[in-house]
Amino acid sequence: MLANLSAVPSTESAGLESAAQELYYVRVALDVPLPGLFDYSCKAAVAIGQRVIVPFGRRNLVGMVVALPDTPAVEPEQLREAIAVLDDLPPMPPAWLALMEFASRYYQRPLGEVMMPALPPPLRKVSAYTGKLAAGGPVKRLERRLAKRRAEPESPKISGAIEAPALNAEQREAVERIAAVQGHGVVLVRGVTGSGKTEVYLHAAQQVLERGQQVLFLVPEINLTPQLEQALRRRFPRGDNEHDTLAVLHSGLSDGERLQAWLAAFNGQASMLLGTRLAITTPLPRLGLIIVDEEHDTSYKQQDGLRYSARDLAVWRGYNQGVPVVLGSATPSLESWNHAQQGRYACVTLAHRARDVALPTMRMVDTRRLRLEQGFSPHLLDAMQERLAAGEQVLVFINRRGYAPVLNCSSCGWVSQCSRCTAYTVLHRRVRGAYLQCHHCGGQAPVPRACPTCGDQDLKPMGRGTQRIEEFLSERFPEARIARIDADSTRLKGSAEKLFSQVHQGEVDILVGTQMVAKGHDFANLGLVGVLNADSMLFAQDFRAPERLFAQLMQVAGRAGRHRAGGEVILQTDYPEQPVYRALQRHDYEGFARYALEERESLGLPPFAYQALLVAESRELAQALEFLDTARKLPEGAPQSYPRQDQIMLYDPVPLRVVRVANVERAQLLVESHSRPALQHFLAQWSHDLFQAGREARVRYSLEVDPFEI
Ligand code: ADP
Ligand code: ZN
Ligand code: ZN
Repeated sequence: MLANLSAVPSTESAGLESAAQELYYVRVALDVPLPGLFDYSCKAAVAIGQRVIVPFGRRNLVGMVVALPDTPAVEPEQLREAIAVLDDLPPMPPAWLALMEFASRYYQRPLGEVMMPALPPPLRKVSAYTGKLAAGGPVKRLERRLAKRRAEPESPKISGAIEAPALNAEQREAVERIAAVQGHGVVLVRGVTGSGKTEVYLHAAQQVLERGQQVLFLVPEINLTPQLEQALRRRFPRGDNEHDTLAVLHSGLSDGERLQAWLAAFNGQASMLLGTRLAITTPLPRLGLIIVDEEHDTSYKQQDGLRYSARDLAVWRGYNQGVPVVLGSATPSLESWNHAQQGRYACVTLAHRARDVALPTMRMVDTRRLRLEQGFSPHLLDAMQERLAAGEQVLVFINRRGYAPVLNCSSCGWVSQCSRCTAYTVLHRRVRGAYLQCHHCGGQAPVPRACPTCGDQDLKPMGRGTQRIEEFLSERFPEARIARIDADSTRLKGSAEKLFSQVHQGEVDILVGTQMVAKGHDFANLGLVGVLNADSMLFAQDFRAPERLFAQLMQVAGRAGRHRAGGEVILQTDYPEQPVYRALQRHDYEGFARYALEERESLGLPPFAYQALLVAESRELAQALEFLDTARKLPEGAPQSYPRQDQIMLYDPVPLRVVRVANVERAQLLVESHSRPALQHFLAQWSHDLFQAGREARVRYSLEVDPFEI
């Protein structure tokens, strides 16, 4: 099989050519769940940053050469030989290797587990280089395919570049501040919703592109905001040379598409890379600017494997490569805001909407003494009626999908529960019949005909989700065209784009949606936003819950009245006096941030402390807790290895709020310190010791640095 190894002369044939065989040693990072690096011998000369195929156990793997030791770290008889050196690409650049090493160190994961998944899948699969179909490896294959496509008649180009609108004074100031950054510096652009942040990014990008440099533009979600991609394509159309100016990277691409975009960035053809969090690790040889739009968005945090924050890596990457980083948001994360307050980040404010319309009026409707109709107050229903009559669109925001959050028996109190999780199952409707679904494990069950406990046939849905709201509104406003946008209605590829484009084209009167509708859309004709059930997010245990709620509500409120004056937001609540709502009512981000930061400081929470979270999983909670207890005591057993232990706080292990998911029980242990270096120092030793302890306890665990949710 390996005789077909394609990309390069294999080491064997290289061996045949030269009589005086030299032997090299290579230190290789591999994507295997083992700490450390792996040494091999190699008959061909290799450079750091090149990929090699090496035997590992009984398999072959693609790995990355990260060092060329003079002598290997293993006994000569244990030293195995690399099978091939892949030279279909130049070696990975030092800046990329440095970013990977930083991420590995900071997030406490083996280098190979960080590095290899950062490459497009075809570049790290042995199967892409071996066998009959490999034909020169994935890069050659792609090049041949592109050459063939180029020979075909050109597809029509998007016609002509679009002139940028003249910036207003606030926008100009922001662009100037970004342009003034010499080398590295972070500029936080806080701009109210509709203030024209996109124009600021585009102008800043334009200057960098004119210097012949590349721009990395990160967004939380691409499929939900196709408007931005279109705007970029129109503004930076494909040039007359065959170089694609814009490359787009996100997780919805096929392996081939991903490789193509990645290569365009890597070899410098693409001057602008637009991408979601995974794009942060793309090598860009002429990087001149990094933009992180909606920097507060939780989508920047990877939730499994390497749990990195793309925003934080962007800041480090800018620092390391000496380029400016722009963080933009209407509601910056308290971490970034705090940096700006302390003077570590420059900060510019766009306080006004770009189109010369006021921010929407915020109305709190106190629902405590009101009779609600399917969750709607008379105030909201009347306002909707008026807007619809005036030909405007209305958005109803409720962060809960499905028909009803639970099914309930009114005789005995039975509620629908998942058999595999400690969670209720959600009632969903579809064209034919209904079903119960668990939103934690995804498991589905039929709706029982009668109560499983008492046999009563009168089972009732309790509460409301998007489907039920949609159903109610179609009865209440029979003339209105209603669209629902949530994870269920957008499951099929392209369906979200289609629904959003219907809204933009004015084919929808009422839009019902979850947080998916809050992101970035510039709706031209949307006059009213109604917010249902925000209170359910008010008393979550996580200390970041109010911050997230505030950001989310500001963002969804910001969809109202963007192109025309008179926009309004109606928020229904039982707790109008809550600080989050009061600040919201005044569009007062700064007031909210001040209040929230004071609270965090007095409680010693981030950004005034640094955290890591160890989560253990087992069939039985007791085992998970026991492992965490062992983990907690590791430093006591070896005090000399933990010299800064006095600066580390280890909390008691506790079960997760949803303890069991898919029959696995979970518990967590929080680690905290007032010093980031002390925490990093501790984690380096601890993660090493945990690996051993985890093996012995046969418990799965994950360690998360800077956890989002606790
Ligand atoms: P944000 O991302 O800050 O919420 P957008 O970038 O979506 O705001 O801009 C809001 C609206 O203002 C868009 O319709 C945009 O075309 C428009 N806009 C931006 N800058 C200007 C400007 N200088 N003059 C006129 N309209 C502008
Ligand atoms: Zn019952
Ligand atoms: Zn479940």
